Amino acid sequence: MTSLPLVFSAPRRGMPPRHLADLTESERRTAVAELGEKPFRADQLSRHYFSRLENDPQAMTDLPSQVRTALGDALFPPLLSEVRHVETDQGTTRKTLWKLHDGTLVESVLMRYRDRLTVCISSQAGCGMACPFCATGQGGLNRNLSTAEIVEQVAAAARVAAAGELPGGPVRLSNVVFMGMGEPLANYKRVVAALHRMIDPAPAGLGLSQRSITMSTVGLVPAIDKLADEGMNVTLAVSLHAPDDELRDTLVPVNTRWKVREVLEAADAYAARTGRRYSIEYAMIRNINDQPRRAELLGQLLSGRLAHVNLIPLNPTPGSQWDASPKSVQDDFVARVGSHGVPITVRDTRGREIDGACGQLAAKG
Ligand code: SAH
Repeated sequence: MTSLPLVFSAPRRGMPPRHLADLTESERRTAVAELGEKPFRADQLSRHYFSRLENDPQAMTDLPSQVRTALGDALFPPLLSEVRHVETDQGTTRKTLWKLHDGTLVESVLMRYRDRLTVCISSQAGCGMACPFCATGQGGLNRNLSTAEIVEQVAAAARVAAAGELPGGPVRLSNVVFMGMGEPLANYKRVVAALHRMIDPAPAGLGLSQRSITMSTVGLVPAIDKLADEGMNVTLAVSLHAPDDELRDTLVPVNTRWKVREVLEAADAYAARTGRRYSIEYAMIRNINDQPRRAELLGQLLSGRLAHVNLIPLNPTPGSQWDASPKSVQDDFVARVGSHGVPITVRDTRGREIDGACGQLAAKG
């Protein structure tokens, strides 16, 4: 057996070093104790990170300087460094490209609306679900993000907002959507841990409201079932895109494993468990899934379920010849689905000009 000299090997891409945001409250105390410090230091660190959104240990001046250095080195490794951000909608939509510790690139998108501030975050670098209309899916999966890498995207957004960097002045981050790169339920354990960091009341966590967090999934049925058992009332969104298995098999390849009916049954059970209405995401693709008969089928399928449909006009992606449906076709689709008593809205899709809209995140350096 021969092995290549180290210099020829590809850069190792792997999980980042441990960060405070990876840990539960009791793990934080243990970690601090293992570093020879008093457990109450863990609460001080949590307050800095989750309440004040501070991630630079040197700014934590209530800690003695040697403690600051020791705990800072051990629990605040830099995880996300901003490569750049681009803006549109007069600065109210901002896409940030982040470089992770191993050089991996991911993106997140911040969107300020009149009544809320939403960050769209990535749960994986790339995605393994291979949906043919999604730019992320075309690139394949690079790796899972760690819990802290996920939380840091949210904390970074909250920092930008609190610092008044967005037009309209300082604002609190209110919503998080797992609609960036990756399939969140394929990175289940880390995503659920990240949810706890987001919803735990400050200073243990960021104190966001559960229902203002949306988990979007292609429909990994066992993971939806498991999420229902976590006792967190986060909002579920299912990327359906077709009411029939024949078409969905091609648009969302994981449908060959879990069929439309099974996915909807899992979503129903989730809704029954949490009392939360779920959304059905449906990217409108011209001449592919926008026919009147599919609108009727979708209406029939969802009638009586605790679901509402969110149509997304298809955003263009490189190398795809597909495009959005004409407005008249979209209007007809909306009317037909609505005639079955199913609530349906068209997503105010943001960031198309900066390749920051649904399905466009490809994290090109
Ligand atoms: N993997 C998860 C979350 C990421 S995508 C999921 O699939 O749900 C968030 C939403 O954008 C999904 O509904 C996805 O299907 C949709 N989407 C992907 N590509 C798109 C495109 N080109 N135009 C419009 N929506 C798209």
